[in-house]
Amino acid sequence: MFLTFLGAAGTVTGSKTLVQLGRGAPGDPQFLVDCGMFQGPREIRSRNWDTFPVEPTALSSVVLSHAHLDHCGYLPALVRAGFSGPVHCSPNTATLAAIILRDSARLQEEDASYARKKGFSRHAQPQALYGIDDAEEAISLLAPVEFGVAFSPADGATARLDPAGHILGSSIVTVTDDQAARTVVFSGDLGRGNHPLLAPPAQPVSATAIVIESTYGDREHEDVEQETDQMAAAITRTLKRGGTVVIPAFAVDRTEVLLKALRSLQDQQRIPVSPIHVDSPMALAGLRVYVDAIAGGDAEINTATAAEGPGAIDLPNLHEATTPEQSMALDRGGARIIVSASGMGSGGRVTHHLKALLPDRGNTVLLVGFQAVGTPGRMLRDGAHEIKIHGKYVAVRAEIVEIEAFSVHADASELIDWLRSADPRPKQVFVNHGEQDASDALAERIRRELDVAVIVPQPGERVAV
Ligand SMILES: [Zn+2]
Repeated sequence: MFLTFLGAAGTVTGSKTLVQLGRGAPGDPQFLVDCGMFQGPREIRSRNWDTFPVEPTALSSVVLSHAHLDHCGYLPALVRAGFSGPVHCSPNTATLAAIILRDSARLQEEDASYARKKGFSRHAQPQALYGIDDAEEAISLLAPVEFGVAFSPADGATARLDPAGHILGSSIVTVTDDQAARTVVFSGDLGRGNHPLLAPPAQPVSATAIVIESTYGDREHEDVEQETDQMAAAITRTLKRGGTVVIPAFAVDRTEVLLKALRSLQDQQRIPVSPIHVDSPMALAGLRVYVDAIAGGDAEINTATAAEGPGAIDLPNLHEATTPEQSMALDRGGARIIVSASGMGSGGRVTHHLKALLPDRGNTVLLVGFQAVGTPGRMLRDGAHEIKIHGKYVAVRAEIVEIEAFSVHADASELIDWLRSADPRPKQVFVNHGEQDASDALAERIRRELDVAVIVPQPGERVAV
């Protein structure tokens, strides 16, 4: 069996691994694990426009680990290029991916028409990477399969999905080349054992090779309790001085994790009760999926949250900003909390809130997720005094607070522990989905602590397993 790392090699986005069975010769069955979009700085995003290295019609299927855009967002482009096979994923991934892909298509179309109007694109006629029709066609290919149930991603291959505890529906993907009797486990994005809403990740099965993510491969998460104290203090002082707390959040999962934390802090009277605005149509759609999963007793939900019921994330002081007018009204400021996408401040409605609220010392920006190099979130984290939004520089006077406790990625030690639980150990480990330093650091630790062969594949590198 052969793996080719078409994305998430040397970077955290664009997850795409080509799996070829047998000798990997022309005509041998092949399929993709994940089909993510490249995000972040222009030079990385531009890779979305490269010609896809495999004829899309020659792919038997796609297997999705989860619904985040950097794992499923390229799917409509693949469909536009001719792919028409099934897209295997868990039932909750199918529900969330439909929401995310429609939103992504709308954004692609809006961005292209904006660039056409303003004439700032380097292209005479800027085109969308894909449109809503491509997204709808991709959504029609989604083929939900329950956790633990075997399916065939291509002739001669068997696969199964197990919970990864990262976001609702997230899966560890196990693939076996039946004839060669070789098995590869893909961690996908691996959650932590203590996700506030979800049950912990499954252990990897015995495998020839494991492909493991390394988003936080060079970092350990801070103590959750200590960080929650910091967050409560930052929110309290901001609200007391009449300021607004802006929290850029990945629309799906991070919003729910935040709401759960805000609910607990309110109940324990550690923060004042103030209006909490969820300002992202996609986040609100995602919230309904989580509320339904909790109400419906979904097995992915952890027991504590299941016992608490939908009120765990559906707060009485939650306000939904659905229209652009409702969203713009929030920029007046005042004592409130705004949770808005995108998570790195690189697009979406949160950019407008940052533009309006960053120049005021009374406000606070709470960074709760991974901030990739080159994004406004990363610049704020690194102490920028001005950041560029929509072509204009904005003064940064608001307080910037970074809280890592809400990460839904395992940290370095948690990744190592998960690998260690594979019995027997795999012969090879491939470290992907990290910035180069993070991947290299994790590889070094794996080599030292687990004594297995470990490789950080280069973009486009092909390996035999
Ligand atoms: Zn993810």
